[in-house]
Amino acid sequence: MNDTPLPAENSTNSAEPARSLNFIEEIVEANLREGKNDSRVHTRFPPEPNGYLHIGHAKSICLNFGLAKRYDGKTNLRFDDTNPTKEDVEYVDSIKEDVRWLGFNWEGHELYASDYFDQLYLWAEKLILDGKAYVDDQSAEIISRQRGTVTTPGVESPFRNRSIDENLLLFRKMRDGGFPEGACVLRAKIDMAHTNMFFRDPILYRISYTSHHRTGTKWCIYPMYDFAHGQSDYLEGITHSICTLEFEVHRPLYDWFLDQLVDTEYRPRQIEFARLNLTYTVMSKRKLFELVKNNYVNGWDDPRMPTICGLRRRGYTPESIRAFADRIGVARRDNVIDVGLLEFSVREDLNKRARRALAVLNPVKLVLINYPGEKTEYLNAVNNPEKPEEGTRQIPFTRELFIEREDFMENPPKKFFRLFPGGEVRLKYGYIIRCEEVVKDMAGEITEIRCTCDMESKTGGATSNRKVKGTIHWVSAVEAGEVEVRLFDRLFKAIDPDNVAEGHDWKEGLNPDSLKVVRAYVEPSLLDAQPMEHYQFERIGYFNVDSDSQPGAMVFNRTVALKDTWAKMVGE
Ligand code: ATP
Ligand code: MG
Repeated sequence: MNDTPLPAENSTNSAEPARSLNFIEEIVEANLREGKNDSRVHTRFPPEPNGYLHIGHAKSICLNFGLAKRYDGKTNLRFDDTNPTKEDVEYVDSIKEDVRWLGFNWEGHELYASDYFDQLYLWAEKLILDGKAYVDDQSAEIISRQRGTVTTPGVESPFRNRSIDENLLLFRKMRDGGFPEGACVLRAKIDMAHTNMFFRDPILYRISYTSHHRTGTKWCIYPMYDFAHGQSDYLEGITHSICTLEFEVHRPLYDWFLDQLVDTEYRPRQIEFARLNLTYTVMSKRKLFELVKNNYVNGWDDPRMPTICGLRRRGYTPESIRAFADRIGVARRDNVIDVGLLEFSVREDLNKRARRALAVLNPVKLVLINYPGEKTEYLNAVNNPEKPEEGTRQIPFTRELFIEREDFMENPPKKFFRLFPGGEVRLKYGYIIRCEEVVKDMAGEITEIRCTCDMESKTGGATSNRKVKGTIHWVSAVEAGEVEVRLFDRLFKAIDPDNVAEGHDWKEGLNPDSLKVVRAYVEPSLLDAQPMEHYQFERIGYFNVDSDSQPGAMVFNRTVALKDTWAKMVGE
């Protein structure tokens, strides 16, 4: 623990210098100058409702909504809901809640790829009628095996040259429930030797009898993501389709579909950027799902999860996440961002907004032997030095106190400016005390520290000028409230948890000490704290009230320590 209440990094002025345009903004501005698309800017955020959003999605959300805001455009929230077996309204609801919480508004532009199922179906028939699609009776495994490799061409399906009439008949039969799941698929007829593997007769439709969360049992065939995504952007009049780099190779296929299907000049312009990767973090939905399903964490909103709901419960603010997204910017090449930067962003924001409070997480009793036992006095404490208008509050001070065990050492090293036998410290907002005696139990553990109190030295008092090197925090042993505090640490101890040696599992990188629960003593004002309120426990870190908290059984989460202890560990 450090003796300065605020780390230096928190005192920096938050006014950022005006930054230069990123490469996407440059493209948008060039398009605006050309008057392309009648100078409209229309973006979308297109999640598949098959999981909870994470901090990587937050980057994409900030980017898409941020562009629309900057260029007076619009952003659609569109659910790419083409796979009913993996989707659920639970995810739709959580995604809407998270986007809203991040501070963005889609102004009624909440849309679904499933809104376009009729149109997509007609487009599929059009491809059939134009001789550009066929029904294939082979299994998915065989089709995938026939795709070939980057260096060898694929194998043409024996069903590739069915007549248009037969294809139309079969496709309609697929639609009408005439085949069991897996019996056949509709494929585009392009080129099995194409250098871009996505052009090797991609699957357009497959059969599924799973009920869809929006269209129910109306359909038993569903378009593949690739056959729905680009056309959905088109139908919505999206001008800039921003997506992550892995879609770069899909782009020519999206263009190919539109070239076959529509005769306007307008096309959404797809722009790819590097996805966000963070140190000590996994971001793949599959892995996050596994952590939840197998109880490595307590749900999607476990405060250790990189999900938006997890970060929210942990005490992150929308402002801190938006500031983080702004700070990391967008790049065209893959990179990994230090998770310390995310922690920095929340620290910086909470420093401005969090009320200060005194709390002792690892208590040892301290008795002021010359202070009257029956006396309770109220000391003035500043609520937030960053916001003087938030005023002060009163903290009860009594003869018996708790201080942090770490703030006392019997045999201190040099430069230990906290409490030790014969030494003096100031109690925050209060008096200077001197350690006179230490009481131990049979095991040699300190049970009580006995001090004298310099009654003339009270903070703000007439003779308070006397200086001592250290100031420590405390709470009254009689007046304090007892609460549960959850000390979260990073979920992974491995800096790059996705990168595991052969024969090892990524879950071996989990940090076994990512959650420590302690009973703590807090100043009485904290007993009125409301869910999701933010506090700085002085000298310790930023905390918020957890959603599990109840009157009489309060629970606080550590959002982030006051200083980046991991950086310190590495640096030492
Ligand atoms: P899936 O494997 O299910 O497709 P996904 O992470 O791509 O997972 P989507 O719901 O398809 O999830 O993502 C919605 C949008 O968020 C997409 O435009 C996607 O490119 C973007 N996105 C996803 N992960 C990241 C990330 N780590 N950084 C930035 N953007 C991301
Ligand atoms: Mg995706």
